Amino acid sequence: MSEFKKPGTAPEFDTEEGLALALSYLEDPSDVPCPKCGPGLVEVVCFLDAHDMENGRVQPTSPEDDYTVVLYCHGCGRAAALDLSREERDA
Ligand SMILES: [Zn+2]
Repeated sequence: MSEFKKPGTAPEFDTEEGLALALSYLEDPSDVPCPKCGPGLVEVVCFLDAHDMENGRVQPTSPEDDYTVVLYCHGCGRAAALDLSREERDA
């Protein structure tokens, strides 16, 4: 297992763990287990507007339509930003 550690930045989940978190979140947003630490440690920090993020803005929003959910694990101290926006888009 290799883990990237970028100095000066918060550690993040890798792609595989992020996917597991996303699936768990979609199944039950109130009970998302950390792939490494197990259940009961992951907190939903906030929701961000996916469109705003594309435009370089970070703005808290409600979990509707296109949004990114930010999760934080108190066990391993890592954060994950999961983009749950839908692919199809009206022009
Ligand atoms: Zn963890």
